[in-house]
Amino acid sequence: MSARILDGKALATRLQDEMTAEVAALKAHHGRPPGLAVIWVGDNPASAAYVGGKDRAGRRVGIDTSRSCHLGADTSQARLEALIDDLNTDAAVDGILVQLPLPAHLDGDALLNRIDPDKDADGLHPVNLGRLLRGEPGLRSCTPAGVMALLAEAGVEIAGSNAVVVGRSILVGKPAALMLLEKNATVVIAHSRTTDLASYTRAADILVVAAGRPELVTGSMVRPGAVVIDVGINRVTDYEGNSRLVGDVEFESVRRVAAAITPVPGGVGPMTITMLLRNTIDSFRQRMAS
Ligand code: NDP
Repeated sequence: MSARILDGKALATRLQDEMTAEVAALKAHHGRPPGLAVIWVGDNPASAAYVGGKDRAGRRVGIDTSRSCHLGADTSQARLEALIDDLNTDAAVDGILVQLPLPAHLDGDALLNRIDPDKDADGLHPVNLGRLLRGEPGLRSCTPAGVMALLAEAGVEIAGSNAVVVGRSILVGKPAALMLLEKNATVVIAHSRTTDLASYTRAADILVVAAGRPELVTGSMVRPGAVVIDVGINRVTDYEGNSRLVGDVEFESVRRVAAAITPVPGGVGPMTITMLLRNTIDSFRQRMAS
């Protein structure tokens, strides 16, 4: 058996194409497109790639990214707080995102919490996480929202399934578990203190892995016929010095057991950016309606 590949890149392209038409219609109707401001501090090379990807995708669908800014690594907390205050009141901005990680002298939580929850494009503000916990509408965290969109596209039956999420971060694991619960899965969250991880992963109909551990989950840890979503992105270097990206799932062994699996790269990653654009458009619609 060889698993069906859940192609996040193709789904992201299709959804972004649909958003292009949607943004053009919104712009024609309201006189301006949705606006997304990405705040990037310092010169972390991984952040450079992520920020560039978000900016390109935003511009591709017609979102205005002109309020985005790149600031020096020595930028003060007060300067960033003032910038966020300005963006919160800027009528042309519907989504604000602070790219992580931040330089060590900055208080990232204080900055994220300062963003107007209704412009919280990343869906990480405590108000939006609280809305998710309560099952209320709100801006949802992008990576888990991307996971859910992939499952929906694949036609995976979530209600009544056993879902196991490996990882309990605020960024991925916890909101992913809540979103699966919202869709009536029975959810287990595993983490670094879980004893006998395989006994849990083997019980999963839907297995979402977000541990940041290269190829942690192998074929023998997966129930035949399971749907496996690999959130992990890890750069590994082999003994010859060649580097490549791998997920938290050992792709080759798991694809022989699972019914469906996301590749890395090209699985969850492109969906995260797509959900960021979705949140920006939804925030625009919400603000225009109020
Ligand atoms: P964190 O490091 O914040 O969290 C990792 C989680 O995995 C923790 O809860 C940790 O447990 C758990 N964990 C670590 N080791 C093990 C183990 N051996 N067994 C079981 N659980 C374990 O990472 P993130 O959630 O931010 O990211 C996870 C992965 O997803 C990373 O590879 C990251 O690069 C990737 N990522 C991908 C995105 C995408 O768009 N595709 C977006 C965001 C992240 P504990 O809490 O006990 O420490």
